[in-house]
Amino acid sequence: MLEAIDLVKRYGSVQALDGFNLSVAAGEIVGLVGHNGAGKTTFVEIVSHLIRPDSGHVTIDGRPPSATSGRVGVAPQHIALYPSITVREHLELFGKLAGLRRAALQSAIDDLVVALRLNDFIDRHTAGLSGGQQRRTQAATALVHRPGLLLLDEPTAGADLETREAMLDVVKQRAGEGAAVVYTTHYLPELTELQATIAVARNGRVIARGTYEELVDGLPGEVRLLLDNGEELTVSTTDPAATLIDMLGRAEHPISAVDVRNPSLDDLYRSLAVSDAS
Ligand code: ATP
Repeated sequence: MLEAIDLVKRYGSVQALDGFNLSVAAGEIVGLVGHNGAGKTTFVEIVSHLIRPDSGHVTIDGRPPSATSGRVGVAPQHIALYPSITVREHLELFGKLAGLRRAALQSAIDDLVVALRLNDFIDRHTAGLSGGQQRRTQAATALVHRPGLLLLDEPTAGADLETREAMLDVVKQRAGEGAAVVYTTHYLPELTELQATIAVARNGRVIARGTYEELVDGLPGEVRLLLDNGEELTVSTTDPAATLIDMLGRAEHPISAVDVRNPSLDDLYRSLAVSDAS
């Protein structure tokens, strides 16, 4: 559905993309992760036709980004809403721009009001909304015309639990209906919940791609015990359950707290840096 081949983008002396390749099939969710500055947003902006690459190609269903209006839904990383119109007016505007009319538009709005829980603020101006309400509104503008390709750039940044749950549910639903999704995030648990394929970007290129099991399972997490004498025991392990049982058996003082940490994105980045260097 989406194919990006060898994208290069330079800003002065900064190489934002340096041979960036990524493909996303219909119905697939690709979680695009990477350190700040890895090139994720630049990639999203090129696919959205907001900027042009210096070289390389992007096709969406075989067409260039310039010829795909109405087939792509974009929720940019930074909130980009009109402050003096309401949430409903945003959805009407974006729906009409994509060609929806009357009953089809109304039914698309009704669906999103439920899916993204917009009801409490649908008739309020966006300037007065909370950060999470603005995030949900922005996602709704990307989703209203049921695009075949969704580009969601950190859609849950700063979001509360309710916003995050609603966002993940609607993304899963749309992928289930056949949409290709690019979802950038700094939160690994969201990608396991979405059962996304993970693509790791670094220095302007994708350096690894695979399922959670392929990339992250097997990396060490951490088990931490806090004893009531103030002592703290931390063990790095690939088998937290067995390690925890072992540590509980050995602890010489009563235990006041237990913390089990699964592998994080930083653990993944570290492991890729090691495999890169070797
Ligand atoms: P983050 O996780 O912080 O959002 P990112 O992976 O999305 O980061 P990009 O925003 O794509 O990274 O930025 C890639 C590189 O390109 C960075 O070094 C950034 O400073 C630079 N860059 C991006 N946009 C511009 C611009 N308009 N002008 C100059 N440099 C830019």
